[in-house]
Amino acid sequence: MTVSKPGPHCPVNRVGTTTGPWLSVLLVWTGLWLVLGSGVCAASAQAVQPAVDPPTRPSGAPAVVVGAELQERRVWTFDAGSGINVCIDNLFSGARLNGCEQIGTREFRLLVAPEQEPINPSPWYALRIRSSKPCEVTLRLAIATPKARPRAWASRDGRRWAMAPDSQWTGEPGDRECTIKVSVVPDPIFIASNHMIGIEELDAWSTRVGMESGVAVESIGRSTGGRPILAFTLNPQAPPDHVVVIGRQHPPEVSGSVGLMKFIERLQQSDAALADFGRRFRITVIPMVNPDGVHEGQWRCTLGGVDANRDWHAFSQPETRAVRDAILALAAQPGARIHLLLDFHATDRDVLYTPAPGSAVEPAGFVQAWLDGVQARFPRERLESTASHNLDQWTFKRWAAETIRAPGITVEFGSLTPHERIAAKARVFAEVMAEVLAAQVPSREAPKPRVPGRGDVVRPREPTPAKPPADERQPAQVPDRVPATVP
Ligand SMILES: [Zn+2]
Repeated sequence: MTVSKPGPHCPVNRVGTTTGPWLSVLLVWTGLWLVLGSGVCAASAQAVQPAVDPPTRPSGAPAVVVGAELQERRVWTFDAGSGINVCIDNLFSGARLNGCEQIGTREFRLLVAPEQEPINPSPWYALRIRSSKPCEVTLRLAIATPKARPRAWASRDGRRWAMAPDSQWTGEPGDRECTIKVSVVPDPIFIASNHMIGIEELDAWSTRVGMESGVAVESIGRSTGGRPILAFTLNPQAPPDHVVVIGRQHPPEVSGSVGLMKFIERLQQSDAALADFGRRFRITVIPMVNPDGVHEGQWRCTLGGVDANRDWHAFSQPETRAVRDAILALAAQPGARIHLLLDFHATDRDVLYTPAPGSAVEPAGFVQAWLDGVQARFPRERLESTASHNLDQWTFKRWAAETIRAPGITVEFGSLTPHERIAAKARVFAEVMAEVLAAQVPSREAPKPRVPGRGDVVRPREPTPAKPPADERQPAQVPDRVPATVP
């Protein structure tokens, strides 16, 4: 048994933007790599500097409190016999791989550990693997906590993913070791416990939605690691009747991001079902509350080592403070009312956690009307919801009910719920929400712009930037972006 040394650098290819079709993703699992052609060894491939993120504090930067245990970012290079080298790395945003050792010629044990223990059993791992010549390898995934329930997904370009078929995967919920068989080639393959929708994807999505809607995407604060927490508001011309939508308090919960994006994209549309809502309500969106956790591939926490969705009383983390302050600033606007706060997550199934029984929230009838309306649109499925989940925890939805006095709802999608199904549900969630809020909230006029009067100093308007300045979108001296073609 040998443990690799950092050793000779294994060049990491930039994945081309013209990577093959969806079928090529499936080929990873089917073992038909021969049709991809036998590439040349890494030595002749175009090498780029890997997007290493040293999670160390830049010299001169203020000290940050890092409570989470970080992985070492590196490349492992192995001699896999017959002149073949196999390289495995975690040098990209969202990666999680804590160790790697060779236990057979083409068999490797991968150690995956959380940022702290005990921890919620929602393990995340993500790695990149390539070989100098096509070969089949076996990866034995050792999960450093019980009750784990990961699967394996693969992607060649970080965008299109395919789940490992049963023939290539062994492991049951609760197993601490799972086995993945994968055909590796000179082009890198990403293997992760789910699709990767990370900082870059969500930032790009926010920018696109903001530009399409003519609104600015702004930073409302910074994470412990110095990364901006982005937000934007749809329908800013509407009266100050607000809906707030947040996501990714928990890093691995990709299905929650899918739901959030589809929910918001539906609200962007101005067809007959939504035109009235669009004129009457503003929607503030904070898609990535915990960018550090996502970047580090953490299972649950912020970089400060705190579960963000248990921090809505202590506010010990800059991430929760930034989101709290942004919401309180909305509430402090003249005449403002916040009517609903949604928090998108993922778990083992689709379920909605609604305000605690007896919560004094307005509109008081929203939750039941919304649940009933959504259920009516899915007559063949029982919509699961409960008002008694985590009542003793300081969650976002509890803070929403107790401080904002508005319904706070945790929207959970199943980690393995197909994305088309998540999209269909999220669109219905949006349509029914629009219908119920429009019916329950009294209509009022949009505020008229104030006409300057005598004695006012009138200055020309500053143009509103379509997106934040580049320096606002980059963490302070912490590189956190990977090439555009890598997840
Ligand atoms: Zn969660």
